Amino acid sequence: MKQPGIVIIGAGQAAAVAAHALREHGYQGCITMLGRERHKPYERPHLSKAVLVAAEEPALQVLAEDAWTRCNIEFAGGIDVIALDLEKRQVRLSDGRVLDYDKCLLATGGEARVHDSLPRSLRGVHYLRTLDDARRLREVLRHKPRVAIMGGGFLGLEVAHSALSAGASVTVVEQAACLLDRFLTAEASAHVLSGLRAAGAQVLLGSSVSTICTPPDGPIQLKTDTGLALDADEVVVAIGLQPNDALARDAGLDIAQGGGVWIDTACRTSDEHVFACGDCTSQLRPGQARPTRLESWQNANEQARMAAAAMLAEPPPAAPVPWFWTDQGSLNIQILGHPAPGLEYVRRGNPAAGKALWIGHRHSVPVHGVAFNAGADLRAIRPLFEKGIPVSLEEFSSDAVNLRTWAKQMQSQAAVAL
Ligand SMILES: Cc1cc2nc3c(=O)[nH]c(=O)nc-3n(C[C@H](O)[C@H](O)[C@H](O)COP(=O)(O)OP(=O)(O)OC[C@H]3O[C@@H](n4cnc5c(N)ncnc54)[C@H](O)[C@@H]3O)c2cc1C
Repeated sequence: MKQPGIVIIGAGQAAAVAAHALREHGYQGCITMLGRERHKPYERPHLSKAVLVAAEEPALQVLAEDAWTRCNIEFAGGIDVIALDLEKRQVRLSDGRVLDYDKCLLATGGEARVHDSLPRSLRGVHYLRTLDDARRLREVLRHKPRVAIMGGGFLGLEVAHSALSAGASVTVVEQAACLLDRFLTAEASAHVLSGLRAAGAQVLLGSSVSTICTPPDGPIQLKTDTGLALDADEVVVAIGLQPNDALARDAGLDIAQGGGVWIDTACRTSDEHVFACGDCTSQLRPGQARPTRLESWQNANEQARMAAAAMLAEPPPAAPVPWFWTDQGSLNIQILGHPAPGLEYVRRGNPAAGKALWIGHRHSVPVHGVAFNAGADLRAIRPLFEKGIPVSLEEFSSDAVNLRTWAKQMQSQAAVAL
């Protein structure tokens, strides 16, 4: 009789990487992947960038066709998993089928948070989470509309730049007084703002939309709490992510405070046969008292590899320092490590000249890095973050110093000091 094998719920980034890692570890049993969307797993980061503006849609699949074939995955798209029975080790599907599992992996990601007054069904209202959402938005951007973007986070700002380059006129409405201030230095944040304004966007900070009127025809009328009236043909709502944890919650798995399927350092949930990875989780990380949520491409990939190892009872790969990137027009921003209160920052380069790198440090140990068009430099100094090596900040900020050589020197000096 066929063994039940591993059932993966969700068919996104984390699901694909986990299936690939299972095969790389030599797992030969059945892998079933069940996805609500009809598409095979694809890379979401392109959705707010190239998919909206490129003349041709880029290749998006997470696993190239040959890797997908080698993984021998039983894929069912357009299927919702509607219940998880921990006792019977079964999942119930929207088409009435019930599947057994030996191990189950939750890789259900998240949904765009919905604004109460702006349901998806309203004319001119857009959320951006799926390929179908992006194709719909791309279509309307062809008409160079007036676009109001609610939310000036990474996603909202990426959409703003894409819409501008598609010829739309753009207004961003952001509640906070600065852009991306949880992730960037004040100087870096100011540069992002001036870049967006220079590209042609109107940016309203310290503002939120207080009233919305959507007449059956004519523009959508928005009013901010600061009294400003705005007309828009399209509204993009980018106000955050809601982890898809309802299935886990209903099954009785532990859910972290603030949302997300609770997982330990090896991606195990509170049930020994169920594992979870990616945007749907909240993970207990080494050295942290409370689990934290990360919504990033790197996190989805790394947790997927951890979960695969854990499902096969193999030691987990080392947890990486968190890394994230975003493209804001021609500005590539990369962020390494954790911003934290009380960090002091030093800068190398000059954002106005198009390239800069900041280190946020505690007693000269770098813990937070921000790179503007300087991803290679950030990569060169990454080991200093991973190993917690104190550095000479004066040398770091000097343009005369070769950063690669310097990073190696800092590591050698730390090794000698041990
Ligand atoms: C527009 C956009 C731009 C982004 N840009 C960046 C970027 O520049 N840099 C970066 O680091 N990260 C970026 N991200 C984030 C990154 O793409 C995500 O962190 C990553 O996709 C998470 O992968 P996941 O597999 O956990 O979830 P997802 O990719 O969301 O996949 C989860 C899948 O599970 C399905 N599912 C959910 N519930 C069920 C169910 N009950 N039954 C069946 N299927 C179900 C969902 O429909 C979905 O297809 C971006 C995300 C978006 C949306």
